[in-house]
Amino acid sequence: MYINGEWVGEGFETIDVTNPANGELIGKVPFAGEEETNKAIDAAHNAFKEWSGLTAYERADYLQKLYQLMMEHQEELAEIMTLEMGKPIKESRGEVQYAASFIEWFAEEGKRVYGETIPSHLRNKRLQVWKKAVGVVAAITPWNFPAAMLTRKMGPALAAGCTVVIKPSSESPLSAIKLMELCEKAGFPEGVVNLVTGSSSKIAKAIMENKKVRKITFTGSTEVGKILIRQSADQVKKLSLELGGHAPMIVLDDANVDAAVKGAVASKFRNTGQTCICANRIYVQSGIYDEFVEKFAAAVKELKVGNGIDESVDVGPLINKAGHEKVSNHVDDAVSKGATVVTGGKSLSEADHGAFYMPTVIKDVSESMIVMQEETFGPVAPVQKVETEEEAITFANSTPYGLAAYVFTENVARGMRVIEQLDFGIVGWNEGAPSAAQVPFGGMKESGVGREGGHEGIDAFVESQYVAIGME
Ligand code: NAP
Repeated sequence: MYINGEWVGEGFETIDVTNPANGELIGKVPFAGEEETNKAIDAAHNAFKEWSGLTAYERADYLQKLYQLMMEHQEELAEIMTLEMGKPIKESRGEVQYAASFIEWFAEEGKRVYGETIPSHLRNKRLQVWKKAVGVVAAITPWNFPAAMLTRKMGPALAAGCTVVIKPSSESPLSAIKLMELCEKAGFPEGVVNLVTGSSSKIAKAIMENKKVRKITFTGSTEVGKILIRQSADQVKKLSLELGGHAPMIVLDDANVDAAVKGAVASKFRNTGQTCICANRIYVQSGIYDEFVEKFAAAVKELKVGNGIDESVDVGPLINKAGHEKVSNHVDDAVSKGATVVTGGKSLSEADHGAFYMPTVIKDVSESMIVMQEETFGPVAPVQKVETEEEAITFANSTPYGLAAYVFTENVARGMRVIEQLDFGIVGWNEGAPSAAQVPFGGMKESGVGREGGHEGIDAFVESQYVAIGME
């Protein structure tokens, strides 16, 4: 753990971090709780006054240094990521670049946190809006993007003048620890960035009960997000939530089928299907259904499965046995209710380790199947035939989630008409990979509150302070 500029960890019980590709133990991190969390919060609180008092230009210098260090250590960060959570190494390199881009972009965006001067209704009064850093921020992150989900919070928080206490996922804490090392190298003053590992419920309790924490930013499941909403009520803590998804992909008759197949493969199988914006349900209009299924299955058959550290691997292991079981159950349920497996549909687990599943396409699915109702978080693509654009929109919106959706059509008016009716915070139109540092990322409905990235991403870490100035 990294608390007040010091490394802490001796004498704690530990959590094993294992490689999901082979079950090997690759590290141990402290299993800490409330005491260390409160120490980290105190450190962040003590550092806040000085850090928020720096100019945005001074804070940007630290962030730019961190960006440079991340790029210099890209390979090392990528290897750690692949070892701790199984992501294919070429994707891990991409994630490090993506993660670093948030630090670089927000270093600059911090210089554009403008206030406002509002025309007054009286000659002897001036009306202004000033911007203030929120204060100490607690950031809780998931395992599936162990670096990017952290920097997407840390970048804007630090740029705005906040100090942070980070709690990474116990499944993949090593990337976060490496990032702390780089923060130390970049020379951030002590207490500005802190990291604790351990019991999520105890750490969350300390965060919720400590009045010094003014803001919580969380990425993870909707289930845990709802717990945090309830727990944060007592102190009315500010909350940003990036939660689960169940993304529909709509492929209409006039789509470029090859582009749709490429988009579907990119969106569905990235990170072994374990991203919040993975296409989870594919609705294809009847005129091109057979052609799409045939070409999609052919492309999916080409994907190589294996240990992500191998350069040629496209699809790695699931994060753990529970993840593997969920995927397997979704496929079995669909088949038992009448779906047909076009390719895959089988586990590739070895006797002693159960994390691999074949990249899978199933067709003739229907709304009664679990795979069409819940986030699968695995390499399974269910394809459902639809007759009309209206039917596709109705199916797409029939979920409590509202994170990402995809639409494939070459007809501009049709694309606009369909997208306007979709209740999703992010839409890829003829595009399977919409994420970038400079755009607002986030969900409608039960997929979250707020946006990360883009200029909205920094708004989450500043408060407006309205100042009325008398001129007598
Ligand atoms: P998760 O189980 O909700 O865990 C996320 C984080 O919360 C982890 O650090 C976890 O710690 C911690 N946590 C667990 N229980 C907690 C509690 N009671 N109080 C406070 N913290 C708690 O999610 P995950 O399995 O790591 O990640 C996958 C989920 O994240 C999926 O639903 C995915 O869609 C979503 N996600 C969303 C976005 C987005 O931008 N919207 C991006 C990526 C992922 P431990 O690991 O130590 O238990």
